[in-house]
Amino acid sequence: METVGVLMTKPFSAYLEEELDKRFKLFRFWESSNRKEFLKENSHLIRAVVGNATAGCDAEMIGLLPKLEIVSNFSVGLDKVDLVKCKERGIRVTNTPDVLTDDVADLALALILAVLRRICACDRYVTSGSWINGNFKLTTKFSGKSVGILGLGRIGSAIAKRANAFGCPISYYSRSEKSNTDYKYYPSAVELAANCEILVIACALTEETHHIVNREVIDALGPQGIIINIGRGSHIDEPELVSALVEGRLAGAGLDVFENEPQVPEQLFGLDNVVLLSHVGSDTVETCKEMADLVIANLEAHFLNKPLLTPAV
Ligand code: NAP
Repeated sequence: METVGVLMTKPFSAYLEEELDKRFKLFRFWESSNRKEFLKENSHLIRAVVGNATAGCDAEMIGLLPKLEIVSNFSVGLDKVDLVKCKERGIRVTNTPDVLTDDVADLALALILAVLRRICACDRYVTSGSWINGNFKLTTKFSGKSVGILGLGRIGSAIAKRANAFGCPISYYSRSEKSNTDYKYYPSAVELAANCEILVIACALTEETHHIVNREVIDALGPQGIIINIGRGSHIDEPELVSALVEGRLAGAGLDVFENEPQVPEQLFGLDNVVLLSHVGSDTVETCKEMADLVIANLEAHFLNKPLLTPAV
């Protein structure tokens, strides 16, 4: 397979880059100074694209790569891949489900605890030397709080299972009610928000879920509520979230993802009730290796005419 051209969109995994380089003719997109020219020059060789959650394969890229057969993405979410164009062209698409579920769910719980128990603020309290002036302020209990999951898929279910172990009643909103769970179902995001204290966003980003958390949902959650987002930044109307936090219409937020990553609204920087992460949901050594191995396994299966391991299209 050394002659098969594979385009990697960004240097998001050194291990994956090395393994791709061993097996295929690897094109490093980030080394190109002119995106269009680079694609045009190498279009006769590139048969696969390897993208991630922030740099996938858009309509322009697909249009410039007439030999493209497969997009093997290093992410479970495929919002940065033009799935409609891929379907039209008969381009296969794979992602990396399941292997990252535990890490992302773990991180959601870490964010809940960090926001409610002010873990980052308390760390700053100690390291800034403030402890000698007295005890840290009281925080908010997590165990037993009601948790609403927006999108009860693989990750949403893993979050629910973990929160359940903290004695939290679970409810959810998805497009359809699930027959395999006793968790309470609400038929809209607003109704879910009105009936929980902690709203966790874990759905896929699509046209329908863009800004699914808007002012109405934030207001329904109310001034005691907290929002945790480990989905995608564009699930939330970010200016609305920022003003709710600044004005005290929301008790706190734990955010792993943002609308214009890596740009993060500066108004959030000084707030003790907010914990901000740099889109690291699945970023552990163990999981990133499993994701990389899955990306390669899908490519190899495709070019050996074998069934794909995790096909999405
Ligand atoms: P999944 O199993 O496919 O779950 C996606 C969920 O989204 C399903 O429960 C689906 O429910 C729900 N959904 C889809 N459209 C909806 C709509 N219009 N309204 C309400 N719910 C809707 O995917 P997953 O593996 O759990 O991953 C979920 C998402 O997490 C990914 O798409 C990705 O964006 C994000 N993620 C983030 C990180 C990170 O680093 N922060 C890492 C991995 C994944 P129904 O089908 O029942 O509607």
